[in-house]
Amino acid sequence: MSEHTDGVAEYVARGEAMAAAEAHRRSVMRTKKFDTIAVHGIYDMQAAAANQGSIVEPGFFSSAQHFENSDHMEAALAYLMPAWVYSRIANPTVHYLEETLALLEGYGFDGEVSATTTASGMSAVFMATNPFLEKPTAGMNIVASARCYGGTFMLFNERYGAERGIDVRWVSDPLDLDEWAGKIDGETRFVFGETPSNPVLSVMDIAAVSEIAHDAGLPLIIDSTVATPALMRPLTIGADIVIHSTTKSMTASGFAIGGTIIARHGITTGIGPEMMRDNFALYVKLLPGRDHGPGLSPFNALMTISDLRTLRHRMDSMSSSAMQVAQYLEGHGQVDRVAYPGLASMPGHDIAARTMWLADGADDYGRDVNRYGHLLSFEVKGGAAAARKVFDGFEMIWRATDLGRIKSVATIPAISTHQQQGDEGRELASLPPNLIRLNVGGEHPNDIIADIERALGVLEGNPTYRVTSGG
Ligand SMILES: *Cc1c(COP(=O)(O)O)cnc(C)c1O
Repeated sequence: MSEHTDGVAEYVARGEAMAAAEAHRRSVMRTKKFDTIAVHGIYDMQAAAANQGSIVEPGFFSSAQHFENSDHMEAALAYLMPAWVYSRIANPTVHYLEETLALLEGYGFDGEVSATTTASGMSAVFMATNPFLEKPTAGMNIVASARCYGGTFMLFNERYGAERGIDVRWVSDPLDLDEWAGKIDGETRFVFGETPSNPVLSVMDIAAVSEIAHDAGLPLIIDSTVATPALMRPLTIGADIVIHSTTKSMTASGFAIGGTIIARHGITTGIGPEMMRDNFALYVKLLPGRDHGPGLSPFNALMTISDLRTLRHRMDSMSSSAMQVAQYLEGHGQVDRVAYPGLASMPGHDIAARTMWLADGADDYGRDVNRYGHLLSFEVKGGAAAARKVFDGFEMIWRATDLGRIKSVATIPAISTHQQQGDEGRELASLPPNLIRLNVGGEHPNDIIADIERALGVLEGNPTYRVTSGG
């Protein structure tokens, strides 16, 4: 501090008061229920008073912040006081979203949690993993579940593996704890899993894998996009860092692309500066985030803030519908296999049943309720050609490489999201060509099932088969 002027010191003192006020807001919200946090975040009456009384978080679309004088500028740019400076680094609207995300993902976690947001889920995966790959060493490797999103597979395999020469050690069966343990050695930088995974809904034991990672001094990073904090919060069961594509269920309207990295303070790693261990999310935001430039647009932040308010209600009802659809598909003669964590036939169902609960949810008798998300996949009898026929038969369910939507959407991953990883990569990821991934939306489940029934009817030589829907 000594190199700064007295004028700067005054702004630092003002900054301390601002930070204390915000810490207070945060601590007040930490005593509230999940829905209350989702609706309000840290935007309270005091914040509204500073924003012309607006009862919703205002959109700040200015690229930059004006400073009162040079002292103010110096204090802000030296990161000595809360400021937003420039929208690549930070932005007030984006900040409201980040605080809400940290509170929701940290719900029920006994410790400090921070969040940063990124322009997409992929930039969240990149920004959450790249900092651990500094100062390459011989034998440097990463250990990751092969049952992951196609973009993550390509980032690790192509960008990290083929281009940078990092040894990418894929875990082919994430339920096999010996496989995780056996792939970790002294040169491993991080352990990465996705659960439930997109598109095969594979489950893993976060608590057990985090113990294996921590014993080796490594962080466990979990992509929890499919579950959302409304159904599962990996930080509470051992993960160090959680990433989401906020594009998906968090912004179910489909109006924005975005991502987030949410980390507990004091992650397990021997890599990087102290700040990276102490507050990983803030570190990524202020330093690598500033230099790589993947900041979230404030407009997209606003779309996500708006949709997040009803996250728990949506995840509750869409999960219930998905369970009905999964059970329907499991009983259908033209379907070989259904992957949905809620089905007893699903490997790892016991783990899902232990960890996936609707936040603050209760049935008519006040008992906690399991909810398993609104993504499922199924294999059509008769191979790839039959799967394409069924897929082409949908009349309401959209054909798109998208999920998390309030509208039902289907894709064939082998020809879309997971096309570029090739036959070998798909085999490693246990992804057959006849698999249809289905995002169950907010429509009435009878109408969703009717569209599926009609489409599967094509295989029974009855292309004009119709069922009455509704009611
Ligand atoms: C979509 C998705 C991503 C990538 O997110 P984008 O917002 O599309 O960049 C990462 N992980 C999972 C599980 C996803 O479904």
